[in-house]
Amino acid sequence: MQVTPSGQPPIVQPRAATDLIDGKVNLLGLSRDELKDALREFGVPEKQLRMRTSQLWHCVYHRGATDFAEMTTISKDMRAKLEKHFIVKRPEIVEAQYSEDGTRKYLIRFADGNEAEAVYIPEEDRGTLCISSQIGCTLNCKFCHTGTMNLVRNLTAAEIVAQMMIARDDLDEWQDPTKGRQVTNIVMMGMGEPLYNFDNVKKALDIIMDEEGIQLSRRRITLSTSGVVPHMERAGREIGVNLAVSLHSPRNDVRSEIMPINKKYDLEQVLQACADYPGGSNSRRITFEYAMLKGINDSDADAKELVRLIRKYKLPVKVNLIPFNPWPGVNYECSDENRIKRFSDYIFKEGISAPIRTPRGRDIMAACGQLKSASEKKSKGQIFREDAAAKEAAN
Ligand code: SAH
Ligand code: SF4
Repeated sequence: MQVTPSGQPPIVQPRAATDLIDGKVNLLGLSRDELKDALREFGVPEKQLRMRTSQLWHCVYHRGATDFAEMTTISKDMRAKLEKHFIVKRPEIVEAQYSEDGTRKYLIRFADGNEAEAVYIPEEDRGTLCISSQIGCTLNCKFCHTGTMNLVRNLTAAEIVAQMMIARDDLDEWQDPTKGRQVTNIVMMGMGEPLYNFDNVKKALDIIMDEEGIQLSRRRITLSTSGVVPHMERAGREIGVNLAVSLHSPRNDVRSEIMPINKKYDLEQVLQACADYPGGSNSRRITFEYAMLKGINDSDADAKELVRLIRKYKLPVKVNLIPFNPWPGVNYECSDENRIKRFSDYIFKEGISAPIRTPRGRDIMAACGQLKSASEKKSKGQIFREDAAAKEAAN
């Protein structure tokens, strides 16, 4: 059993997923239109469809109901019928870890056995949930633990929304709305590159932003990209959330070395896409993320060049300096505290905000860039070798 730093057991214990009963449709993760279609197929008369869809939507997303018996706004008769065809099911929480600093990390196992992590980070004035968009990542940034995994698969919209539902369950947000929201912000900064799973991320965020459901404002959601230039404009136009861009160096040679995607979309292209980002303005600044790597990207010259580029492209940005978070086997070190401070001061003096992010949840490997799950995409060779080993062990 997991225990929180205060000695209390967490509200949600790791638990097994409810068994899917053949033919039952999981309502969690359906968009409003899909829910309506599912109800139509189920036989709800056309003139009741709008009302029934709203009722169910409200129960599933606003109240967090998982059991039809809790949906008391719906008649008993109707509930009994719905229960025969539908289910509202969360994925399994394999492990919930609690950091000394209050950060909570959830290891979530989806129906096919693959796993991803989500992290809740409480602060004085907000609570931020860091959500994963993929199992693994295609991009292999050298300083990122997720980058050591191959991409196993994209998460579905339902699996992305489920991370929010699981955190809200754990924080007991549904039962006691007077407590106020615990998850006030979302960052798409967990495992994976969200713009390489565009449609599912968009669908999930649309569900999360819906005004009759979870109701999280787009201003409280930030999507972080490593710089997938062709999808950045579309993200601004179609999703409309805040944008964060993983910059990490103002030099193409260094950026290409630490972030191989720079060979495809270089700095100039990324910066131009930032300048063109719909909705980027002084009141809604883009965030540049910058992991401080000792001896790699932390010199005075780097700070100077970064400022020059921000000015050149007239970017309304804030630079988030992230002390590098180590993980087993990595070859980089975090810049010294003084170096980070000096880097930050230089940028501030030039009139650009450059706060130093306090690392959170390092003790449970929940900080930026430390997430990883054991899921693997197995090659045919691997599967063959494992089968052979299993046979040998059985003999
Ligand atoms: N794939 C997306 C979002 C997930 S990573 C992206 O790359 O933007 C969230 C942030 O953490 C990114 O800025 C990423 O570059 C940064 N990061 C990755 N590994 C890190 C580490 N070990 N220490 C600090 N920041 C790291
Ligand atoms: Fe993928 Fe982002 Fe990690 Fe790079 S930093 S490997 S894009 S998750």
